[in-house]
Amino acid sequence: MKTKMMLRTILGVGCRLFRLQRNCPASILMWHRIINPEEESYPLEPGMYVRPESFRRQITFLKKHFTVIPLSEMLQKTASESITREKPYLAFTFDDGWLDNFENAFPLLMEEQTPATIFLPTAYIENKSEQEQLLFWTDKISMIASELSNEYINRYPPDYLPLDVQKAVRHFLSICKNTDAVSENINYFLAPFRPLIRPEREIAIQWLENEFHEQMLSHHRQRHISWEHAKTMAKSGIISFGIHSHQHNLQTELNPEEIQADYKKAVATFTEQQVPFIDAYCYPGGSYNDTTQMTLANAGVKNTIITTPNSYKETQPQIWGRVGIHEDISNSTAKLAFRLWRQ
Ligand SMILES: [Zn+2]
Repeated sequence: MKTKMMLRTILGVGCRLFRLQRNCPASILMWHRIINPEEESYPLEPGMYVRPESFRRQITFLKKHFTVIPLSEMLQKTASESITREKPYLAFTFDDGWLDNFENAFPLLMEEQTPATIFLPTAYIENKSEQEQLLFWTDKISMIASELSNEYINRYPPDYLPLDVQKAVRHFLSICKNTDAVSENINYFLAPFRPLIRPEREIAIQWLENEFHEQMLSHHRQRHISWEHAKTMAKSGIISFGIHSHQHNLQTELNPEEIQADYKKAVATFTEQQVPFIDAYCYPGGSYNDTTQMTLANAGVKNTIITTPNSYKETQPQIWGRVGIHEDISNSTAKLAFRLWRQ
């Protein structure tokens, strides 16, 4: 009884503070994968997933305390409109178009008639489910690390590769040799590659992929939705889509011509596939600067979406922050309330 009362107080205070903190019209939440991590063939980054049963609880809690509206509507709201409401506005978003969004999140969202927007990196979405899909470099590294951590690796990058690439690969292989705690330390395995400039990172990953091709085969399966899935979800009226670039590169690593070309390709792909999309561009990795903003403004984008909370800016395009929701910080309603209050 006591615990119940305490929990109710935490939730009440959390939500009230959450409302008071609103200095922007938006309360936008961000999820990635809705999956039980043990069902995946490689370790997932902790920030990447929420379990389906946690997600169900989150929907119930959020609907109780907020008015969940489509993101496209949220982008039209003013700050005062949301603050003065008994139940402030909230929008659900998902990044990357994971297949588990279709398999696990979509049925729950339908059941609860809760609108959500999924941001698609269009190069990763194929026409047919069975076609081989591209993978994010972070997932490739997790896959390789999960295979190599249990065996001694005696392969080294050749001298003709750039020095930074050789160093990163050697560092990665030495971590693989010396630890088997992949599932707990996946960020540790990704770390050697993060400081590399994009072309060098691509060389490093390519070398590892070729070298450990056989080990990668066991991980082969569909992970992103197909355009057919997108069409099914769009038809439901519950799910809308937004652009998450074409290639899912950090836009801050590209020059204006490359940013523009990538954006155009994403728009062309959505159009070709006849899947409607809303005027909201979600930055891969939340990474943006003045150049990316100016380039997207010139391309006609009105809203850009990032990954940090409390980041609303009335710039051109307008910048909208989001609160990331993942399992380790939100698998109970008390933790979720705390996360929202702390944002
Ligand atoms: Zn992404």
